[in-house]
Amino acid sequence: MRKKSGNVKRIHRKTPGNRTTLIYKRKRHGKAVCAVCSAKLPGVPTGPKSLMRNLPKSKKRVNRKYGGCLCSRCMRVQVTKEVRGILS
Ligand SMILES: [Zn+2]
Repeated sequence: MRKKSGNVKRIHRKTPGNRTTLIYKRKRHGKAVCAVCSAKLPGVPTGPKSLMRNLPKSKKRVNRKYGGCLCSRCMRVQVTKEVRGILS
């Protein structure tokens, strides 16, 4: 584990001998969220790069327009806007 890399968290923890030591822990991965309403995206896994790079592309996001970026409700609104020609 590289201790100075950005994906490592530093934690000050007390030992039984009442000393404070610095321990390093890997940061946990957050859930994928919608870009508009920040709802959690189902069907979009997150994890360490070592795990994600072995997954096929179709398993990393939902296979539709704006899949893995917008939730289904926001996607519908966006597609409706595109069809009507009112893009904001
Ligand atoms: Zn949304």
